[in-house]
Order: sequence, then structure tokens, then C-alpha cells
Amino acid sequence: MTGRCRFCCTFETCGLRGPSRNCHRNPVDGRRNRPALRRLGFWRGRGVAAAAGTGMYQANDYPLAGGGGVAAFAPAKWPVVAMPAAVGEVRPRDRIKVRLWQASSLLLLAGTACGIVLAYDGPSVGPLPRAASAVTPAAAPALSSLEAPVSEGSLLLVGIMPGEPIDRAMARAGVGAGEAAKVRRALRNALYATDPAPGTQLRVHLGERPNFLAARPLLSARYQTSAGSTMSVARTRTGFAVEAEGLTAAERPRRWRGVVGADLLQSLRDSGLAPASARAFVDALRSRISLASLRASDRFLAVTAPSGAPLLVRLDRAAGGGIALMPWTGSDGRTAWYDMAGAGTAETRIQRPVPGPVSSGFGVRLHPILGFWRMHKGVDFRAASGTPIVATMDGRVAAAGWHGGYGRQVRIEHGGGLVSTYSHMSAIAVAPGALVRQGDRLGDVGSSGLSTGPHLHYELSRGGTAIDPLSIGSFGAHRLSGTDLDDFRLRMRHVMAAAAETVSAAPQTPLRL
Ligand SMILES: [Zn+2]
Repeated sequence: MTGRCRFCCTFETCGLRGPSRNCHRNPVDGRRNRPALRRLGFWRGRGVAAAAGTGMYQANDYPLAGGGGVAAFAPAKWPVVAMPAAVGEVRPRDRIKVRLWQASSLLLLAGTACGIVLAYDGPSVGPLPRAASAVTPAAAPALSSLEAPVSEGSLLLVGIMPGEPIDRAMARAGVGAGEAAKVRRALRNALYATDPAPGTQLRVHLGERPNFLAARPLLSARYQTSAGSTMSVARTRTGFAVEAEGLTAAERPRRWRGVVGADLLQSLRDSGLAPASARAFVDALRSRISLASLRASDRFLAVTAPSGAPLLVRLDRAAGGGIALMPWTGSDGRTAWYDMAGAGTAETRIQRPVPGPVSSGFGVRLHPILGFWRMHKGVDFRAASGTPIVATMDGRVAAAGWHGGYGRQVRIEHGGGLVSTYSHMSAIAVAPGALVRQGDRLGDVGSSGLSTGPHLHYELSRGGTAIDPLSIGSFGAHRLSGTDLDDFRLRMRHVMAAAAETVSAAPQTPLRL
């Protein structure tokens, strides 16, 4: 701990203790940030800490110890910030002093609402209110519509940057990587919501830090979609649940119905489905049943998101043996189609982690450095330093960092006891807890740890036993269990209900669900 500023931040480069005159040196450009604040009149006696300028700041880094406070910051080149005056006698480590959360408006520079974060800490009243009024991203929201004081923890506003997924925006606000990943998964599994559009303001409610080192727990988050409805993410016992308010017709799932006819794919397309969606449904069904066994009079029901993303497909067969399939991302990060019993359909194919050739296979070999014969528990791929390494299957990052002789290593759990590791990396691009899709970049090839030159050492194991990745092209279907299965069934009910209330694109007689 080199002289950290205990009042405003934990930046080691700040180099000062306490809110001195020179407090708040920007760690990126070294300039002081405080004068800008003073010009805005937000400094004296208000417990306001702010860092404006370039770079990304974690709200975490602004403990705002004890009192009310506002931290605002913006990413590079984004207009910064203005904050309302947080009023009250604020003394560090002395909470519940702030009586009044009053402000008239939020100043926005350059008329754009962007990467802005507002942290408000402390006072005593009431729960987080439900937002009523529509806040357009371009307009500065009146603070009165923004928040009343929160009982515990902090309320932050985070602007979504272009191309930024919600979990990364949340991490900027100080949400732990694991929780941010859970939120993204909840949204991915939600019926209506998608990743918020750039410029969307995300309101994040964080709880009290359980200890000094831990990230603050996420209590809830909400944002408005571009269509004007409100998405809320709330903490549940097992994870996070998404709720939508004020959905417009355009945001609701769509339902397509018809009879199988001579050709299921053609019939799906004839019902109005986009070709890609129709193909996705047919592929999912084909992995489970023989399409040749279908009769022309069998009926189908397909549900898609407004984007066309498949939500559910169901076949009602005159001969019995109907089937419903739904794509689902489990807590292990794996996305597949599952039936009502939670049985997965598609087998998982292993993707090559790097394009390079195999330089050393799986099995006993003479170790190039240690000089004796020993088991090589993985496969080496030759590749130039800096070559991107991608996840071979969907999964969740279990560890990412230095791991002895393996050097920089990323470890991914794929569910069902299946684990893959990627070693000797020169750079790591993922954090523990993050969900990754097959093909997502994990980092770059390097020669860190016990290594003679740039290569990727890739290991695959199931239940702790090493598997030769080259001998196995794919893994069999996965089965949901535990809370995953509960969550899955709940969502299937939601999709069914949504399908029942949705207006079909091609009106026909209602199908009973
Ligand atoms: Zn190796």
C-alpha cells in the first residue's frame, strides 16, 4: 500500500493521504481533477469525490467512506459528468447524516448522456423506488425523478458504451465479475430483454461491502429499453431475475403456428418465420426426433424474440410423443436446446483453441526442459506469440492468472465435471466468473512459465482425469439439474404464457398450450 488517499480513492498513484489540496491526481494523465470540481462548486464540505478525465474508474475505488457522496467519471473521450449537489453534513465513517437528497438537474456536457456514474451513499429512507417517468438517453433526467434516498448502499448510474456488454458496464460500476456475469446470463435467458443499447443509462443499486476487500453485492439494476419499457434485474436466492414493465407490442415474443405439411422447414417459413429462425428450429428438432416420422397433420408452435432469436419450438403429434425444446444458457455457461425434462439435445463439439499445428500430443514423452520421461497431460499447439486463444466450448472461467510452471493460465469449467485449461499465455483477456462462448477469445499465445517457446498447452479433463482432446471430437448431451433445472422450467412456463398472449403474425385459431 503506497500512500493511498483514504478519502477519495485507492489509486496508488494518487500518492497522497486524505483530502488534501492536491488530492485526486488522475492516475492516467497525472492531472489534478479537483479544480474542475471546485469550479462546479461541488467540493467544499460535501463529501464529493470525483475523478474526471480519461480512463476507466471503478466506483469501487471511491469508498466515500460513511457519508453521502457522489463519484462521477467517464471513459475516455466521453463527456464528463456533472453531479447534483449531495447535501448534508458528511463526515467520514459517520453514516446516516444526510437528510436531504435534493437537486434540480443533472448537467451534461456537450449535451450527451454518456458514461456517467453517480454514486450516492448512505442515508436512511425507503427502498429503491420504481421509476415511473421515461428518461430518454439524450436528455438530462431531472434528479427528482431519479431517486429518493436509498436505505442501504449506493445507487449508481452507468452509461453503456458502444459495443459494451452489460456485464462490463457493471464491472465499471464496481459490481464483481461473478455477479455481473450472472446478470448477463439472466438477461440472456430473459424473455424480452437484450443487452441495453449504447447510451442507455443503467441504474445499479449496490449493497454494503461485506468486508474491506470484497466487491459490493449487487442488489438490483434497471434500465429503459429504446422502446421505452423498463427492465429490472433483482437479486433472488439463487441468482438474478429479470422483470419487464410496460412492454410494447414490438418487444413481445412472437408466435408462429401451423401444420407440418409436406416439409416442416417450408411450413415454418410459410407461417412467416425468418429463414434463419426456421432453420434453427428444424435443426434443434432434427437432433431429437426423426423428421421423417412426422405426419402432415402434426402441428407446430414456434416462439421467437422480436429479434428473431428462437425461444421455443413445440410439436404436437397426432400419434403422440409431442416435444417442446427451448434454448437455454445454464449456470455453467453452456447454451444448448433442452426438452421439458431438462435433457439437452445437441452434443458439444470441441473447437480448436488456436489455428496452429499440434507440436506435441497427449501421452508419455521426454520433457523438453526437465529432461525425463513423464506424462504430457495435454496437447501443445504451435503458434506465434500473440495469436488469440479461444474457448473450445461454452463455459465459465474458473481461474485466470499465474499457475506455477503453467505460467499464465485460464481454466474453464464446462459443466458435468468437464474442465479445459490454456497455459503459457502471454496475455489473459478474461476474468474469473465470466461466462464464455465457444470461440470467445481468452487471451494470447505466449511462453510464460516452464516453456521453451511460444505455444499453447491445452488440457482437457473430466472429473479430474485428463482426456486426450484429439481423441474426442465432441461430448454427449448435457442434462440440467438443481437450480438450473428449476430456472429452466420457470422460463419455459413464461415462454408458454407469453406465446399464449402474443398476437400471432399470421392469425389462426388459438392453440391451447
Ligand atoms: Zn504442453
